[in-house]
Amino acid sequence: MGAFLSKKMNLRHYQISAIDQLREGFRNHQRQLLVMPTGAGKTITFAAIAAAAVRKGKRVLVLTDRIALLNQTFMAMAHLRPFNITDNPYAELTIGMVETAARRTLPTPNLIIIDEAHKGNFFKILQKHPSARVIGVTATPLHPRLSEFYTNIVEPTTISELINEGYLSPVAPYQIQAQLDGLRTRSGEYTEASQFAAFNKAKIYGQAIDHFDALGRAPALYFCANIEHAKITAKAFGDRAVSITSDDPHRYDKLRAFELGDYQIITNCGILTTGYDHPPIKTIGILRATKSVPLWLQMCGRGARIHPTKEEFVVIDHGNNHTRLGRWDDDRNWTIEKKDKDIGPAPVRLCPKCHAVLRAAATECSFCGHKFEQKEKIQVKGHAVFVEKSNLSGRLASTCSVRELVRAVGEKRITHAQACRIIRSRGMPSLIEFAEIMGYSQGWAFANYRLDKSKIEVKLR
Ligand SMILES: [Zn+2]
Repeated sequence: MGAFLSKKMNLRHYQISAIDQLREGFRNHQRQLLVMPTGAGKTITFAAIAAAAVRKGKRVLVLTDRIALLNQTFMAMAHLRPFNITDNPYAELTIGMVETAARRTLPTPNLIIIDEAHKGNFFKILQKHPSARVIGVTATPLHPRLSEFYTNIVEPTTISELINEGYLSPVAPYQIQAQLDGLRTRSGEYTEASQFAAFNKAKIYGQAIDHFDALGRAPALYFCANIEHAKITAKAFGDRAVSITSDDPHRYDKLRAFELGDYQIITNCGILTTGYDHPPIKTIGILRATKSVPLWLQMCGRGARIHPTKEEFVVIDHGNNHTRLGRWDDDRNWTIEKKDKDIGPAPVRLCPKCHAVLRAAATECSFCGHKFEQKEKIQVKGHAVFVEKSNLSGRLASTCSVRELVRAVGEKRITHAQACRIIRSRGMPSLIEFAEIMGYSQGWAFANYRLDKSKIEVKLR
C-alpha cells in the first residue's frame, strides 16, 4: 500500500511510515494518536488514510474544530468528494465540526479521524461511537484525558528530523532575559491583564526594537499580550510596523500589505497563531509569556516554513519562554501515559554575549563563538561534572543554581536529601537537570517529584 500511495499522492517517506505504523497498530489498538509537528503535512497524511479506507468500503468521518480548518480539509480531500455531515451523514466520507457531530445523531462510522485531538473536545463523540476505530491527530499530545481514550501513539517524525531533511527551516533562538514581575496564573495560563502589565514597559519596547535591529530580519511576526499591546508595539516600531487585531475592520488589507512587503513587522495577539502561513517570515518575536507548550510551538512554528529567501529563522523571545518550555526544535519524547503535569523541557543555557538559547551542555556558543567561563571538574558519585567556580560557603541554598547545589552535595556543604527537597520545590525542570547531572534516570526525577515540595532554606556549610 505504501508504494502505491506514494506514487499516487506524492507522500513523503515519514507520511508513508505513519500510515504503515497506524495500520500495524490497529491490530492491537482501537484508538491511536498520530503525532506530527506543524508543517509535516498531517492533512495530506490523513487524507491518504481516509482514501484507503473508503476504497475498502469503509465509512470515514473526519472532524475538525474550526471553520478555517474545515474548509482546508475539504480542499485537501476534494478529490475524494467528501460530504459535510450536515448534508449527508451517510456518505462514505464525511467531514464536520466536532460541535456539530456531538449534537447530532449520526450513523457509526468505521473510522473517525480527529484533527487537533489535543484540544480534548471530542469525548462525547467517542462515547457515542464506542466501536469505531479512531485516529486522533495532533502536534502536541498534551491533554490530560488523552490517555483515557487512546492506547497507542505513532510519531513518524520530529521537528529536528524535518529540519535535517530540509522540510522545515532551522532556528536561531534568542532569549532576552526579562524581569517579569507580577505574572498571575489562572486555569494554567498567565492572565492577559498581568502579561500586559509586565510587558507594557518602555524598557521592554526599547529592548524589542534594539534586538530586532541586531538579530531580526524582515518580514517579522510579533506576538503580544493583548490587542492594545499589539497596537502599542507596532507604534513603538514606527512606520515599518503594522498591527493586525480582531477589532480592526481593515485587518485583512493590512495583512496583505505586510505580505506584499509594505511593512517589515506585523504585530498581533492571537489572530495569527494557528494556521497562518507566510513562508518568507524570517523572525518571530515573542512579547508575551506562556505556560502552554502547544501555543509556544505554534507561535515559533510560524517562522518554520522553508523559503528560497531564507536559510534559517530567528526567534527573539522576551518572555523567558525558552527557560520555561525549551527550544522549538527540541525532541519532546511524547508518551501516551498519564504523567505529571509539568514535565520539564530539556534544560537550556543562555549565551551572555549574544542571547542565543543553547543546549545546557554547550561549552561554546554556536552562534557567536563565545566560550563559557572555565569550569572546574568535580566528581559526584562517579560522574565527572563541570560546575561554575564560585565560593559556596555560607551561601543560602535558595540562591544556588542546580549545578551549584550538586557541587555543594559533593563538598558536603548540604545533605543530599536537603538538596533534593530544595530542587523539588523549584519544579520538574530543575529536578530533571539535577537527575541528568547526577546520572540518575528520568524515572528517579518523576518519583522524587511526588515527595514533599514545600520550600526550605539551608545555609551551606
Ligand atoms: Zn553567543
